Amino acid sequence: MTEKQNLTILGSTGSIGISTLDVVARHPGKFTIVALTARHQVDAILEQCLNFGPKYAVMLEPQAAEMLARKIKQAGLDCEVLCGVEGMEKVAALPEVDAVMAAIVGIAGLRPALAAARAGKKILLANKEALVTAGPIFMDAVRTGGATLLPIDSEHNAIFQALPHDYAGQPGTSGIRRILLTASGGPFRTAPLGELDLVTPAQACAHPNWVMGQKISVDSATMMNKGLEVIEAHWLFNATAAQIEVVIHPESVIHSLVEYIDGSVIAQLGNPDMRTPIAYALAYPERIAAGVPFLDLPKLGVLHFEAPDELRFPCLKLAYHALRAGRRAPTALNAANEVAVASFLAGELGFLQIPQLIEAVLEQLDNRPLAALADVLDADQEARIHAGQWLATVQKNRIREKHGSLMRS
Ligand code: NAD
Ligand code: MG
Repeated sequence: MTEKQNLTILGSTGSIGISTLDVVARHPGKFTIVALTARHQVDAILEQCLNFGPKYAVMLEPQAAEMLARKIKQAGLDCEVLCGVEGMEKVAALPEVDAVMAAIVGIAGLRPALAAARAGKKILLANKEALVTAGPIFMDAVRTGGATLLPIDSEHNAIFQALPHDYAGQPGTSGIRRILLTASGGPFRTAPLGELDLVTPAQACAHPNWVMGQKISVDSATMMNKGLEVIEAHWLFNATAAQIEVVIHPESVIHSLVEYIDGSVIAQLGNPDMRTPIAYALAYPERIAAGVPFLDLPKLGVLHFEAPDELRFPCLKLAYHALRAGRRAPTALNAANEVAVASFLAGELGFLQIPQLIEAVLEQLDNRPLAALADVLDADQEARIHAGQWLATVQKNRIREKHGSLMRS
C-alpha cells in the first residue's frame, strides 16, 4: 500500500464506522477520507467531519441533512452535504474514491454497496445483509464492475486469511474440504432454556466478547448472525451449505478455520477486536498496526469448542434452510429477521418469538426466482408485509388474552 488511499465510509457513526476511523487515525498520510455517511446522527458525524475533513457528508434523512449543512457552514468546513440513498450511492461511486467501507446495517446498505461494486471499487464489506439478500446480483456486480471484495466480518476475514494463496498472492479454493465458522454462542449460551422468553433487549445486547451495534448484538444472541454468516460464506467462498459448519467457541479467539483434504486445518487467531480485520482489509495485501492488544496465549490457557444446540438456536437452522432453498428465501429470511429484531428492541416481541415470526414468513413465501435488484426489493417488501401481519395477529391475541383474564379476575 504505497499510495495514499481515498476512502468512503458508509455508516461512519456505527460501531464498524468508528473502528475504521480509529485505524485510519493511527496512520496519518496513508488514507484520505472523502465521504462519510450516517442515518441521522448529526452531532456524531459533525465531529467526524471536524476530525477528518471529508469532501462529502451524507445523511439518510432530509431534516438531518439540513441541520448538518447548517452546522457545517457555522464551523466553516468545506464539505458538501448530500441526502438520501442516492447521496450514498453517489459517494460510493465517486471517481476519486479507491475503497469503500460498507458498514451500514441491514438491507439499507445494499444499494450503496452495489453502487461501489458497479464502480469497480475495493469494497470492505461489513454489511453482510447486502450479500445475504442479493447474493447473485451483488457477486455479479463485483465481477462485471471489476471490484475487489474484502470481507470485514471477523469470521470471513479469518477464512480469507486462511485460504490457499498462489505464488502471486491471489486467494484460491484448491484442496478445501470444509469451512468452519466459529460462533461465541452469545449471552444466552448457557442460560436455562425456560428463562429465555423473559430476556430483555438490554440483556440480549450485552455480548460477552464483542461491543457491536444493537441489531447484530441481538442477532448474535439468537445466532441468526451466524446463520447470515453461513449465507455470506456461501457467496464469498463459493461453498455449499454442506461445506460450511458452525462451531461454538465461547472465547472468540479463533475467528474461523479452513479444513483441507490432507487433514490440515488453518485458523486465524487474535483478540476479539474488529480493528484487526478492518486494518487487514484497509492495507491488503500489506499489514498495518490496528491498535489491538496482542494475544497472550499462556494467559488464555484453554480454548473451548462445542456443537451448536438446535433447540436453543432455531434461527441457525432457519438460515441453513433458506440457503438450501435459495432464490428469494434468504432475502425473506433477512427481512423477517430485521422486522423481528426491531420489534424485539422496541419491547413489542418476546425473544423466543423472533424465530417464530421468521419461520411463519418463510412458510408463506412464494419462492420465485431472484434475477435482478427489483426482485430483491420485491421479496424484501413482501416478507415485511407478511411479518407485519403476523405481528398484528400476535398483538390481537395478546389483547384478547389480557381481556379474557381481566374478565375472569
Ligand atoms: P451500527 O448500528 O453500530 O451502525 C450502523 C451505521 O449505519 C450507522 O452509521 C447508522 O447511522 C447507519 N445506518 C443505519 N440505518 C441506516 C439506513 N437505513 N440508511 C443509511 N444508513 C443507516 O451497526 P454496526 O454494528 O457497525 O454494524 C454495521 C454492519 O457491519 C452490519 O451489517 C453488521 O452485521 C456488520 N458487522 C458488524 C460487526 C461489529 O462488530 N459491529 C462485526 C461484523 C459485522
Ligand atoms: Mg461475524
